[in-house]
Amino acid sequence: MPNLFQQSRRHLAQWFTLSMGSILVVFAASVYVLEVRGRLQAFDTDLESKVRVMAGGIQYRLRQGRLQARLDHVPMLGSNTLPLNSKIVYARWYDDKGRLARFVKQQPSNRQITTLGFKTISLPVSQKNHQPLLLRQVTLPVWQEGVLIGYLQIAVPLTPLQQTLTQLRLLLTLGVPAALGLIALTGWWLGGVAMQPLQQSYKRLQHFTTNASHELRTPIAKILGQAQLMLMPNYEEESISRQRVEKIVTITKGMSRLVGDLLFLARHEGPLNPENLERIDLTRLLQELTWDAAALAQNKAIKVNCDLPDQAVMVAAETDLLCQAIANLTNNAIKYSPPGSWVKVRLMTQGRSALIHVEDNGSGIPAEELPYIFDRFYRVNTTRSHSEGFGLGLAIVQQIAQAHGGTITVYSEIGKGSCFELVLPRQLL
Ligand code: ATP
Ligand code: MG
Repeated sequence: MPNLFQQSRRHLAQWFTLSMGSILVVFAASVYVLEVRGRLQAFDTDLESKVRVMAGGIQYRLRQGRLQARLDHVPMLGSNTLPLNSKIVYARWYDDKGRLARFVKQQPSNRQITTLGFKTISLPVSQKNHQPLLLRQVTLPVWQEGVLIGYLQIAVPLTPLQQTLTQLRLLLTLGVPAALGLIALTGWWLGGVAMQPLQQSYKRLQHFTTNASHELRTPIAKILGQAQLMLMPNYEEESISRQRVEKIVTITKGMSRLVGDLLFLARHEGPLNPENLERIDLTRLLQELTWDAAALAQNKAIKVNCDLPDQAVMVAAETDLLCQAIANLTNNAIKYSPPGSWVKVRLMTQGRSALIHVEDNGSGIPAEELPYIFDRFYRVNTTRSHSEGFGLGLAIVQQIAQAHGGTITVYSEIGKGSCFELVLPRQLL
C-alpha cells in the first residue's frame, strides 16, 4: 500500500508538471510571437517614416508629356543632400513604370520592381558571426498631387531586432526549463500534501482492522478450545459440558456486541439525515435513562442521581442513538467507579446549546491518556484487565455527538473522578 501512495504521488506530480508545463510553454511561445510581431511593427513604422522623409525631397516635372523626377535633394539618392542618420544598406529609385532609375550602394539583380511593401531578405552568411544577415526592405509608391511619380526602395539591417530576439530566446530557453523544474518540485510537494490525509486515514483504517481482528481472534480461540474439549470422547460429565456451552454462549454474546458496535460505527459515519431527526425533550429522556442507570448501579452500591431543569429542553435527534450515547457514558461511570461512589447526570442550557454532564467520583483518567480515549479500541492501561469492554463505547459516543452537530469533552483527574460533557444544539421552544 505505501507503494501505491508513492505511485499516486508520482502520478499527481507528473500530471501537475505536464499540465502546468504545457500552459507555461504555450504562454512563453505566445509571449515570443507577440514580442516579435510588436517589435517588427515598430521597426517597420520607423522604416516607413524614413522613406517618407526621403520621398519628401523628390520633385517632379512634366517634360514633353513625360514625368521627370528630380532626386537632387533626396537624402542618400541626391547629390547635394545631408546623409540620413541611419544604417541604410541600399536605396533605389524606380520610375513610375517600375524601372530602376537610380540606386545607391547595391545594384539589384532585377532592374524591374518586383514587390511592394515590406519584405525580409536574407543575405549570405557573414564571415563574422556565422549568422545570415537579415535585411528589412520597404518599397513604397511615391505620389505627389495625385500623380504616381515612382517607387522608393530602401533596406536596413534587422540586426538590432535580431539581437533583442536572440536575448529573449535565450531567456526563454533557460527560463522555461528552470520553471518546469520548479513546477515539478512543487508538484511533488503538492502530491505529498494531498497524500497525507489519505495516508493518515489508511493508517487509521489499518489500525482499526488490526484491533478488530485481534479482539475477535481471542474469543474465537476460546470458543474453539471449549468446543474441542467437548468433542473428546467420554471426556467430561454432562454438567461440565453444560458449563462449557454456557461459556461459549457468553463469549458469543460478547462477540455479537463487538460486531454490533463495529457495524454501528461503520453505518453511522457522517451527519444524520434531518428527516430522521425527532424533537426530543432531553429533560424527560435523561430522567428515564437515569432510572435505568440507577437500576444497573444497584449491584455495585453506586448512587445515581440527576440534576435536571424544570422546563423541557428540546433537541433534534435520533432517539435511539442519543439513548445509546448517554447510556455508554453512564455505563462507563458505573463501570469505572468503585462500590459506594456516586454518579450524577446533569442537564443545563447555555445559549443555543444543551449541556449534558455525566459525572462520577470514580477512578479518573490519567491526563496523558485523555487525548486518546475517544479513539476506537482505546482503553486506559489500568483498566485493560477488565474482561468486558472493547474500547469502542466512547468512540461511538463521539460519533453520535458529531452526527448530531454536537461535541463530547472530558474533564478528569486521576483518583478524583471524571466528567463527560455532551453538548448538543438546542431547539428553542
Ligand atoms: P466498551 O465501552 O466498548 O465496552 P470501554 O468502556 O473500555 O469498552 P470506552 O467506553 O470507549 O471503552 O472507554 C475507553 C476507556 O476510557 C475505558 O477503557 C476507560 O479506561 C476510560 N474511561 C471511560 N469512561 C471512564 C470513566 N467514567 N472513568 C474512568 N475511566 C473511564
Ligand atoms: Mg465503555
